[in-house]
Amino acid sequence: MRLDRYLANMGQGSRQEVRLLIKKGHVRVDGKVCRQTATQIKDMNEVTVGQEIITYREFAYYLLHKPADVLTATKDQKQATVLDLLPKTLPHYQDLTPVGRLDRDTTGLLLITNDGQLAHRLLQPKYHVAKTYQAVVAGEVKPELVTVFAKGVALSDFATQPAKLVIQDYDADKKQSLVELTIAEGKYHQVKRMLKAFDHEVLALKRLSFGPLTLPADLAAGEYRELTSAEVGALR
Ligand code: URA
Repeated sequence: MRLDRYLANMGQGSRQEVRLLIKKGHVRVDGKVCRQTATQIKDMNEVTVGQEIITYREFAYYLLHKPADVLTATKDQKQATVLDLLPKTLPHYQDLTPVGRLDRDTTGLLLITNDGQLAHRLLQPKYHVAKTYQAVVAGEVKPELVTVFAKGVALSDFATQPAKLVIQDYDADKKQSLVELTIAEGKYHQVKRMLKAFDHEVLALKRLSFGPLTLPADLAAGEYRELTSAEVGALR
């Protein structure tokens, strides 16, 4: 890989910025200043910028606590996207893509990566990656619904896989229930549609987990962190 691409992919700046760094003599390859932006870097080469060794990693994985009012997209002309919440200096920023999609008003765990193959696999229906959502819904969710959901719900265009519903609370004053729902697919508006099918409009929705990943309690809405290698291993 070319030296300028290597550095840009590792978050050292835009292609233009890293070319300037190289030309100014700030970059060394195996201890020697290298001013050639097109120098081919191989696995065994050591690249440094100033005193810092820049180790290449092919993939980057981030867990974002998506806030409401942000689109699950990479770019939008008018509205803020989840990619706008990440610093542009992150490794592989230009190639990062959200894995799956949360509605604009849905909050919670969103995986963002440049590992297209993993993303593709995680989204394939046959792998049944479980996703757990916490929902505030209108009305009192009755225990009978737990059994109904456990058999799967027939919606107008498809029947869902068995889903796990846990009723957590009912606020009689507000006439609202708090539930957790775990589903095995991720069809468009699926959680909202499943609950609405039983007259429970979803008033707030938050994703708590995605496969083996859980939303860290100390990660505020709008914040992100890198996945640990154990988390990446668990996803594979
Ligand atoms: N189901 C929904 O209805 N909305 C989401 O954002 C995610 C799952």
